Amino acid sequence: MPEVVKGARSSQQVDSREFWHAMAQDDVLERLQSKATGLNEAEAADRKARFGPNSLPQAKQVHPFWRFLAQFRSPLIYFLLVGALAAGLLGHIVDAAVIMAVVLVNAVVGFAQEGKAEQALGAIRDLIAPQAQVMRGGQRLRVDAANIVPGDIVIVEAGDRVSADLRLLRSHSVTADEALLTGESVNASKQAVPVARDAALGDRSSMLFSGTLVATGQATGVVTATGSQTQIGRISGMLEEVQPLSTPLLRQINQFGRSFTRVVLIGAVALFAFAVLVRDYLWDEALIAVIAVSVGIVPEGLPAVITITLAIGVQRMAKRNAVIRKLPAVETLGATSVICTDKTGTLTRNEMTVRNLAVEGYQLQVSGAGYAPDGTLTATDGHDEAPALAAAAPIIRCGLLCNDADLRESENGWSVVGDPMEGALVTLALKAGAGVDRLRTEWQRLDTIPFDAEYRYMATMHRGPGGEHVIFVKGAPEVLLDMSGADPAAWQERIVNAAGRGERVLGFGMKRLDHAPPRLTHADLEQGVELLGIMGFIDPPREEAVAAIAQCRSAGIAVKMITGDHVATALAIARQLDLAEEPEAVTGAELDGLSDGELAALAQRASVFARTSPEHKLRIVRALQSLGAIVAMTGDGVNDAPSLKQADVGTAMGCKGTEAAKEASEMVLLDDNFSSIVAAVHEGRTVYDNIRKVITWTIPTNGGETLLVVLAILLGFALPMTATQILWANLLLAATLGLVLAFEPPEQGVMQRPPRDPATPLLTPFLLWRVVLVSVLFTAVALGVFFAALEAGRGLEVARTMVVNTIVVAEIFYLFNVRYLHMRSLTLRGALGTPAVLGAIAVVIVAQLLFTYAPFMQELFDSRPLTLADGALIIGLGICLMLLLEGEKLLMRRLGWFAELRS
Ligand code: ADP
Ligand code: MG
Repeated sequence: MPEVVKGARSSQQVDSREFWHAMAQDDVLERLQSKATGLNEAEAADRKARFGPNSLPQAKQVHPFWRFLAQFRSPLIYFLLVGALAAGLLGHIVDAAVIMAVVLVNAVVGFAQEGKAEQALGAIRDLIAPQAQVMRGGQRLRVDAANIVPGDIVIVEAGDRVSADLRLLRSHSVTADEALLTGESVNASKQAVPVARDAALGDRSSMLFSGTLVATGQATGVVTATGSQTQIGRISGMLEEVQPLSTPLLRQINQFGRSFTRVVLIGAVALFAFAVLVRDYLWDEALIAVIAVSVGIVPEGLPAVITITLAIGVQRMAKRNAVIRKLPAVETLGATSVICTDKTGTLTRNEMTVRNLAVEGYQLQVSGAGYAPDGTLTATDGHDEAPALAAAAPIIRCGLLCNDADLRESENGWSVVGDPMEGALVTLALKAGAGVDRLRTEWQRLDTIPFDAEYRYMATMHRGPGGEHVIFVKGAPEVLLDMSGADPAAWQERIVNAAGRGERVLGFGMKRLDHAPPRLTHADLEQGVELLGIMGFIDPPREEAVAAIAQCRSAGIAVKMITGDHVATALAIARQLDLAEEPEAVTGAELDGLSDGELAALAQRASVFARTSPEHKLRIVRALQSLGAIVAMTGDGVNDAPSLKQADVGTAMGCKGTEAAKEASEMVLLDDNFSSIVAAVHEGRTVYDNIRKVITWTIPTNGGETLLVVLAILLGFALPMTATQILWANLLLAATLGLVLAFEPPEQGVMQRPPRDPATPLLTPFLLWRVVLVSVLFTAVALGVFFAALEAGRGLEVARTMVVNTIVVAEIFYLFNVRYLHMRSLTLRGALGTPAVLGAIAVVIVAQLLFTYAPFMQELFDSRPLTLADGALIIGLGICLMLLLEGEKLLMRRLGWFAELRS
């Protein structure tokens, strides 16, 4: 066999000899040494070893050296570099070295954290690596797309990204978006029939090409080329897009950094002029002091810390099964005010069991749970079993044949491969004792109209054991009633009853044909369908969803259920989930008649949208957004892509979602579970809180460090800290305490506050107030210490050493105050701190002890040893500051001046 495949491979390398599209199916299969039931695993493994994985070369990584250099590309850093250069030129080598140390520490931290963040994001992206359905050894399997080999039989359906070049073997109404490859914006229609040898790429309608998107239909094909041998691999070596680590918030911070630097620069020049002209400083002394002050006030570490905070958020979300595809979503999630969610599988478990079935004259109940075929059918309205069972046989057979699912038994019990509802129909057939395998072989399927949420039914055409031709159809009961012309009144009551119990109701029908049309089309079902009956499926709500919805309600987040299901079913489930006080429901048909304005009002009021199609979803998102809502919206199908794109946080299902839906989304749920969205919102709010904490700590402390010295120059007294000491404090604190707030766990009340107003600027009034207050307090305390020490005749050096220690201690205590912006910090939890906090504090204490007592540090920084009493005084002052700021937090909350503190 290898000979032939080898031949196939060499022909793939020569364009002109590649005619898969023109060959007959059997020749293609033979040439690729494959068959309709697929390769077996051993062959597949063997071919993978020979042909390599089905993947395109990764985008080239930027060399670490350049990534390191990139850390210096920030106006804040340029500013520091100029400062270091100036200090060096003035002969202040220690100062220049300390500034350079700040720059280097900042770059190393930024480099390491950015690398870690990118690695983490990469690992997370692997969690949602594309998969494909293949036939292997006669079984339908999902495998990683990377494991596909030439000769594999691949099944694709609407919404799939084609994972290799395929020659079609069977197809039903397939169109593909090939714009990527051909630039053609109209979807190409595909059939499993050979085309001319010299057909251009865009005309090879018997092929599906890797990287293109299946827009509609279903097809099976055999893989002709993988990886870089595919058409797309050869023309572009298409590179995986590299996501920039950027978000609106980061851009806002960088913008802030630029304007801040400008202001500092102007202030510095003015201060320098004042010092030299008015205060008679020596110009070089004045310059070095001004440089130190400016370096101290610049928040050079801020962009890096915020990146870290975002990356930690992404990782925490992934741990809770929410994979972020686009980094800005981390921020948006925190502001989400409405979550629009699917019902089936997201709020419910999507573990379907047929509970009731109704056929003409009989009503039956089915026992058992899950997919295990243990259970019995009993007649419920007093009839004998035998005639009831006989009457139910056709509907059960229809359910089994108009069906793409299989059951599988393993040590974990029975499970479904395919659609859960269809799995339940197989279970039902087994419970009823129908010969499942026999029926499926005897009734050969000729063609299929796959299910689509657009028309809500599925139909299959078969040749029966007696040569007769029959169409089986199943779908939403109204659709079936419509097709069959059965008396709606007789069935309506049964449908509404079942739906009112929360059951998902499905109708079944069949149509006998005199002769089979070549293709099954919607027109074939317009009349002559005989209604076989209806079934009610139970699909219990997820327990976690109940809790998550309660959490949303306390967090001021509205939850809207948008479903294709029947309105009564949807309402019953909404009540079970306690979705709203008195959930109001509307149907898609009702939405159709409304203007955008009316829709907005309704969309806000109603919490259940039933019998909707994907287009309704788009209108609903837009309506909610027009009211200022930040909307998270779930989706799974290819038709959901527009609404997922429109939503602020498009959320695709990881398990049952199509590739098209995932690509349109900001976030993918690994477990398809509603509670994971809420967990992500929780983490998103925490990220935003932590960013605010970082800023609330950084800016005022920088202000405190410098106001002191500015005052000294302005008022004309001895500098309370030397330039070198300012730079030391700046280096020490930025590299330690400045980083730790990124790691803060969520505060307790995070999900008890209303969503953040997305228009709130980063520098809120409260923050500005804090900048002023804390800077002034720090300055006052430090100056008090300074003058008291001078007064006591301790000498300028001792007084300065005390000031440096006071500032550092004050910042430690302030950190504890900032760790909880919304609650008291004076709690056990508040005192214990995270490992990051405690580690950073330990470093600061050791460094400060060295600064104060180590002879070489005393030499470098002109510091002096302090007494135990000095230490006690400084710590006491720190505690006083902390208490004062706690009191302020409380007072401000009481006064309610700042909206952000209200809850
Ligand atoms: P949901 O929002 O509950 O996922 P869907 O859009 O998947 O709703 O389905 C809408 C309706 O279409 C269902 O209530 C059911 O009546 C019908 N339906 C769903 N899946 C199938 C299927 N595989 N075959 C036939 N009909 C289906
Ligand atoms: Mg569905």
